[in-house]
Amino acid sequence: MAVTRETETRTVLNSSSPQQGRSIASSGQAASSRADGEGQSELSDDSSDRPRLIVTIDTEEEGLWGGRYRMTGNTVENIRGVPRFQSLCDQLGIRPVYLVDAPVVQDDRASAILGEIHAAGGCEIGTHVHPWCNPPIDEVADQRESYLCNLPESLQRAKIEWLTEAISERFGKRPVSFRAGRYGLDITGARVLAELGYRVDSSVIPFTDYSADRGPDFGNAPWQPYWVGGEDLCCAAASGKLLEVPVSVGFNRSSFSRAMRCQSLLGKAPFRWLRLEGILDRSQVLKRIKLSPEQATARDMKTLIDRYCESPSAVLVMMFHSSSLVPGESPYVGDESELEEFLGRIAETCRYFLESKAGVSRTLEDVAVERKAFRLAAARV
Ligand SMILES: [Zn+2]
Repeated sequence: MAVTRETETRTVLNSSSPQQGRSIASSGQAASSRADGEGQSELSDDSSDRPRLIVTIDTEEEGLWGGRYRMTGNTVENIRGVPRFQSLCDQLGIRPVYLVDAPVVQDDRASAILGEIHAAGGCEIGTHVHPWCNPPIDEVADQRESYLCNLPESLQRAKIEWLTEAISERFGKRPVSFRAGRYGLDITGARVLAELGYRVDSSVIPFTDYSADRGPDFGNAPWQPYWVGGEDLCCAAASGKLLEVPVSVGFNRSSFSRAMRCQSLLGKAPFRWLRLEGILDRSQVLKRIKLSPEQATARDMKTLIDRYCESPSAVLVMMFHSSSLVPGESPYVGDESELEEFLGRIAETCRYFLESKAGVSRTLEDVAVERKAFRLAAARV
């Protein structure tokens, strides 16, 4: 099957703003103590509004970048690049989240590499469903079905259940964090996750619309963590059971909503014909930035961190793919020198966050525990 790889087709008007982000983010200010004993990591007794950084890696098979998604025969040689990256995380004091998919869990060697890190307490292991290679496979694998949210609910549930059990068995702990392959989650999948005991999802990409590719539209999603449980994954529901922690996307301007409106306008005629959007992006006048070393320079990622940290208790989520940790396995890292540059971008960005912003490292589960504790504390007041 020939489908396009995670193309960010276009962005749309988003009503979120730093002001909205401030009110959402501040809801976690006092949340530092454990809500219960389920969190695996040691959280510091930090009740300040210091910003949080979550480093997430979609940990999966290589060979996805050529426009082909295979049901069988996938290889996970790229996982051998994880220990070098983990060493960097250990030096930085970062505890990353490896969101692993079926081919990784099915591979003894890849699982052993991750299992060793996990057993030492160096990471969180979460779940990453690629529907096309995640048992049970009972669908026609095409462009539409590559998004989990386009499958029948029963099949979504069966795939998530299969991988949840496989990860539990491999790593000795039931996963509580999730990201859908190709960010293909909607409220149906979110409900399934909550029913299966998941505490947090990170499939939302704010300011991004995949609907032209028959995927989800996150154009109106909040850019800071929020509870979901209503009728729309992009709408906060105060009593929801699942915490959504979006991947960090924003602009180099303080008002994200104004920037989004401007960029959306520039994408339409007649501005589109003048290519003003690209000119403004390259000239740094108005630039959309994703917190990913695959798609942004260290300078741009630091700018995005600046914008996010204008709100107290900001939560930032960096993401990239495990295949970028081995030269030649992703389009972003071609050779050894590019791998060094790639790791250097991660280090420079994380150090800036930790030192200049007095930020702290968290996992997805950590943030879910913190937010739940805050909600419980607030309910008692
Ligand atoms: Zn993936």
